[in-house]
Amino acid sequence: MLTIPEVPKQKKRRSLAVLTSGGDAPGMNAAIRSVVRFGLSHGCRMHGISKGYSGLLEGNITPLESTSVANIIQRGGTILKTDRCEAFFQRATRREAANILIRNGIDGLVVIGGDGSFTGAHLLENETGFPTIGIPGTIDNDIAGTDDTIGFDTAVNTALAAIDRIRDTASSHDRIFLIEVMGRSSGFIGLSVGIGGGAETMILPESQETVANICKTIERGSRRGKTSSIIVVAEGKKPGLSARLARDLWKKGYTARVCILGHTQRGGSPSAHDRLLASVLGASAVAYLLAGKSNAMVGVREDSVVLCPFRKVVGFKKSVDSQMLHLAKALSL
Ligand code: ADP
Repeated sequence: MLTIPEVPKQKKRRSLAVLTSGGDAPGMNAAIRSVVRFGLSHGCRMHGISKGYSGLLEGNITPLESTSVANIIQRGGTILKTDRCEAFFQRATRREAANILIRNGIDGLVVIGGDGSFTGAHLLENETGFPTIGIPGTIDNDIAGTDDTIGFDTAVNTALAAIDRIRDTASSHDRIFLIEVMGRSSGFIGLSVGIGGGAETMILPESQETVANICKTIERGSRRGKTSSIIVVAEGKKPGLSARLARDLWKKGYTARVCILGHTQRGGSPSAHDRLLASVLGASAVAYLLAGKSNAMVGVREDSVVLCPFRKVVGFKKSVDSQMLHLAKALSL
């Protein structure tokens, strides 16, 4: 069960702010809502910062009430908008950011984002002592210290719905489809989508699959009477992997259609799972801040809410479960 940490009685009224940074993910709005309403219910003044660290540097800070976050739990994207901010890589800029927060009477910052956003938050607190806490919001689920991230479940379900449809065409026309999913340099989306979508094979950064092996899988399938194949390709670091694979397969005598799902996986209404996760993590982030904890990310490990110090999160790589890789292989035989 996901239990929200206890909130100690507050000696003074706290004033907290929340921002979203980096890539957007479905469920960020549910997290913003939870941060704001949980904070208000514990007597805090709550603020929203528009456009991530860029908005913070511009002093784009607005007080938020309960009604400010009404009717957003079901909406994808982020009402606070998000951005990538080059200037935040500079130490002097981060000091200026802390001064802006202090001038606005804010004494704690919640950052919803991914590894990059947490690196910025970690440096901000290390250098200025300004209390920050992170909530993992990314479809990639590639953040160390947490089993799950807000947006991952929705992205996987979106990709699965697309695969189910493509399979109809693949089997009607006896075709091979290479379906490219997001995930940057990690294969979490690819693996879940591959297993859940019954893919014949998966090309993941972690699995080092060769073109010769893909051909063998297709041949094995066709010997068993399979006339179509779905191959899930995780995008990886370099764009265009599925197109390169299609070319390599063509050279071996196979014609494969390419379908890149792209940003469709980032949008849309969050799943029930992501809404619940976001609600629990949003409240937990505020609870920890009010308990005097910071410089850390809230996450979920083995079905419990945990607080993981940023120093153990940023720059660390989370690996896909090797058991799941074996399962994927066994099920695609
Ligand atoms: P994500 O948070 O989704 O991983 P990014 O990696 O693009 O997204 O990071 C979002 C923002 O976080 C960057 O635009 C920058 O403002 C800040 N950031 C990322 N890395 C650093 C860093 N090393 N130092 C300071 N700020 C950083």
